[in-house]
Amino acid sequence: MTDEQLNELVKKISIKYFDRKFLHKAFFNYRLKTTGGRYNLKSHCIDINPKILEKYSYDILLGVIKHELCHYHLHLLGYSGRHNTKKFIDLLNQVEGSRYVPILERQKNLKYVCQKCGCVYIRHRKINSLKYVCSKCHGNIKLS
Ligand SMILES: [Zn+2]
Ligand SMILES: [Zn+2]
Repeated sequence: MTDEQLNELVKKISIKYFDRKFLHKAFFNYRLKTTGGRYNLKSHCIDINPKILEKYSYDILLGVIKHELCHYHLHLLGYSGRHNTKKFIDLLNQVEGSRYVPILERQKNLKYVCQKCGCVYIRHRKINSLKYVCSKCHGNIKLS
């Protein structure tokens, strides 16, 4: 899906579910890491994490867009649009948006190699290689 297509989709959802036009821009933001979407209070733009489509589904994307549109429309109507306000929760329920945008975890495999015996350790998180040693030979391990 391109930014253009995303923008069209957001416009469509806005009319269909909110009965209001989306007059700003929506685009994929590759720098978003763990959040699925973000509404920018200054520019009124909606950022969507492209990983939602990679890791989840179209339905989840729709839920995220609805969620961000709740922020958008409430903000433009002069409400705070914060998550814990009644206005936000009511509107979100009305349009069946997702309450919580799924957390996108960065699950990048990190490969550590023992400098002495060459044993490989795969970890999902960065570890302090000064603190940990190879469990077989107690050699130093290094990120490769
Ligand atoms: Zn939100
Ligand atoms: Zn070793």
